[in-house]
Amino acid sequence: MFDPLAWIPEQLDLLHAMERRRAIHVRSTQQGATVAWQANQLINFGSNDYLDLAADQRLRDAASQAISADGWGSGASPLITGRGNDQAKLEAELAAFEGTEAALTFSSGFAANAGTIDALTDRGDVILSDEKNHASIIDGTRLSKATVRVYPHRDVDYLENLLKQCGTFRRRLIVTDTLFSMDGTIAPLDELVDLADQYEAILMVDEAHATGVFGEHGHGLCEHYGVEDRVPVRVGTFSKALGGHGGFVVGSQTLIDFLINRSRPYIFSTAAPAANSAAMLAALQIVQQEPQRRERLMESAQFLRGALREQGWSLGDSHSQIIPVIVGTETLAMELSAKLFEQGMLVPGIRPPSVPDGECLLRISLSAGHTRQHLDTLVDAMRELRF
Ligand SMILES: *Cc1c(COP(=O)(O)O)cnc(C)c1O
Repeated sequence: MFDPLAWIPEQLDLLHAMERRRAIHVRSTQQGATVAWQANQLINFGSNDYLDLAADQRLRDAASQAISADGWGSGASPLITGRGNDQAKLEAELAAFEGTEAALTFSSGFAANAGTIDALTDRGDVILSDEKNHASIIDGTRLSKATVRVYPHRDVDYLENLLKQCGTFRRRLIVTDTLFSMDGTIAPLDELVDLADQYEAILMVDEAHATGVFGEHGHGLCEHYGVEDRVPVRVGTFSKALGGHGGFVVGSQTLIDFLINRSRPYIFSTAAPAANSAAMLAALQIVQQEPQRRERLMESAQFLRGALREQGWSLGDSHSQIIPVIVGTETLAMELSAKLFEQGMLVPGIRPPSVPDGECLLRISLSAGHTRQHLDTLVDAMRELRF
């Protein structure tokens, strides 16, 4: 009999032969600075739970109360059955936190990026996208019927040349991560806002890894650069430093009204459970009340970068809590990751398609929950692996 999926095992075998077949482990503990995978106790340098909030008691309590009061599911898209009280409160709080007129929550950061790019651009427009942008931005540019031009990582001169050639397009959208997820580098936002002004482009940024971490008040890198008022479209996620789930867009009321009407992942996706909104309200409070979390995170990052650079590892241009150890080949990256795993450390090896061939790396991501002892354990192990 004809098996319509007979081609799949071959594809999987091919991945296996290239040592690129992935499988998912089962985590047997809650998310935190340490985790267990079955019998393996691990110091966790893999998560994006930068402020150590994913398992925080206050988020649990807020979620529990919301479940008791409002139940679990939300029933339909907010356009059909309305947004819940908790979601409305969260969107208002988020707008206040980010200093914008309005905010809109999405089912994921992925949906927020893809759905915003697609809504803002169409045939006749051009999207200018950093080559290291997150997959959700790339997929947004694929969904859009606009022309796409990719510029080299953080290369503002190249971008300016592109902009000079793009005057005939109806609209220009420049889109960039603010903190790049794989190499820990920071976008030149101060220059990007000027370019957007000069060439009449829309600047859209993704603060996924920077919200809660950068800026005096934890608003992100736009705050750090003092350009919050000059970036009209800002995307973020609840799933990283805020320890929860879901994505968001902040900006003018007009922008948000437009997305409610035009962003397909918003319109055709069920609203998040009230419990998630309640937990994220609690997380926003904590970000504002406990700056020591991001201070501690930055201290840890500075310490670790210094120690690893001293050992001679190449860390690229990381200036953040995301520290890539760039080793080049896939074999070496996976070998180092496996050796660290044996010694009780979860440090993912990153390889294609997450990074280009030959630029494989270990991606260390830090949390405010890491102790000095956790960091020392990693530094000692890395020294052994180097020499
Ligand atoms: C993780 C990530 C997203 C997606 O956010 P989710 O809420 O996990 O879907 C978007 N952009 C960047 C840069 C990310 O790293």
